[in-house]
Amino acid sequence: MIGTLIRCIDCNKVINMTEWDHCPQYAWHNGEIIEQVGNERETFRQRHKGHTIEELVPLTPPISDKPYTEPLKTAYFEATNGKRRFLIKRWRSTIDDPLAYEIIEGSIVLTNGKVQAQSEAIKQQIRMEHNSFISETKLDFFVKAIEKEVENVDPYTLKESAVGETPLISFYQLGTECVDRILARCQDMFNQGELKLLRDFIIEHNEYNDVMTVVAQKEFTIKKETQKDETPRTAHSAQRISMPPPTPHRTIKTV
Ligand SMILES: [Zn+2]
Repeated sequence: MIGTLIRCIDCNKVINMTEWDHCPQYAWHNGEIIEQVGNERETFRQRHKGHTIEELVPLTPPISDKPYTEPLKTAYFEATNGKRRFLIKRWRSTIDDPLAYEIIEGSIVLTNGKVQAQSEAIKQQIRMEHNSFISETKLDFFVKAIEKEVENVDPYTLKESAVGETPLISFYQLGTECVDRILARCQDMFNQGELKLLRDFIIEHNEYNDVMTVVAQKEFTIKKETQKDETPRTAHSAQRISMPPPTPHRTIKTV
């Protein structure tokens, strides 16, 4: 999110000011390109003329259960004025509308879902690379050993290696100890050559979102509660600023 979040203290309304606010917008109308009048920043400035405003600094990335590429999703993030946290809802009603922002009550609570192995992808990859070496029975055994290992693993103990198509999906690398335990489970089923092959396969495919990484789907909820004050922790704390474009009064009130 690039821009400056401005909150009107009097009305508890928020706007994200970007450099694009000043750019004219164009539309296609009856075969002609026309310049559209309308500037979010100017509208906000007029509506909150004479009110007290402040800058908010985002504390969390926008979170949504929709893919990054979905343009009409609703997302939530938290921001601070240095003293207090605000939960902000961000959305777009139609593809042509600018993003809208609203302060709502509550805070974001993220919970990590269960970790899962990419079982089918692992099987496909091994079949592709080592079809003549590993039988289907042994392949099933290997995948079950992985599933058993990740059954109770806490994603907080693993290293996140990639994010999925939504901010709620994460991929994690298997740690060395997990790899050792998986191979230990396979010891009676595979010979030394095969175990070496499996170890190499795990190491080779245990990065980014490759087949040996495990996936966890987080969930988020909005917890309604009284907002808690917080101690300043960002550079722009508690500073009341005037609304750009510059006015003769760069202090508390907008004009
Ligand atoms: Zn206002």
